[in-house]
Amino acid sequence: MGDKIELWKALKKSPRYLYLIGGFHGDEVEGVYVLNQLFKWLSNEDQGLEMNLPMVVIPILNTDGYRMGTRCNATGVDLNRNLPAKNWSESHQDAKYHPGKKAGSESETSYLVKRFKKWPPYLVMSFHSWKPMINYDGNLQVVAEYLSTYNQYPVCDDVGYETPGSLGSYCAESLNVPVLTLEYPRISKDLSLAEIWNQNEEGLKELFMSNLLAPHNF
Ligand SMILES: [Zn+2]
Repeated sequence: MGDKIELWKALKKSPRYLYLIGGFHGDEVEGVYVLNQLFKWLSNEDQGLEMNLPMVVIPILNTDGYRMGTRCNATGVDLNRNLPAKNWSESHQDAKYHPGKKAGSESETSYLVKRFKKWPPYLVMSFHSWKPMINYDGNLQVVAEYLSTYNQYPVCDDVGYETPGSLGSYCAESLNVPVLTLEYPRISKDLSLAEIWNQNEEGLKELFMSNLLAPHNF
């Protein structure tokens, strides 16, 4: 328990940063994989992209869950229901979405909130996997639709159920920062991690080479 969370931050100083976060849910290896592939490409010196965008990358937030292959963290809490959003609630107690003892009670969410204070975000991209979908909170319709033209995943601004204490709620309401939640398909006998990256490589690369993620847009 207590595996270290890794973080990479662009050298360039900025008043606000673009956050790329993987592994909120430890069993969602597809999202972690896509972010890892993207990060490898972004950090290739030839791209020079880290010079252009002030980024903070957290490859896996829920390191214990990732090691154990569980959605929740080592204490059984869904990190995406534990953030200190105004709508945090202890009403959903089922194991899959356990919100924790109190808002922000978990070491991983408190780690994230501290980083947000130190290096404030202007946009957060969170890499998950479930059913393929591009979900957004805040003013991100253009970015979501841009990606969708490449991967053909549906775009939505409402997952259709309440998500108290989620990253989207916390960022949108408490920080006034938009969140793009990327849901990739799950691996199966017909779909490998490499194929999932394949569906997304071109769109993500084009997005990062466009001006759409620049701080002045937010
Ligand atoms: Zn997830």
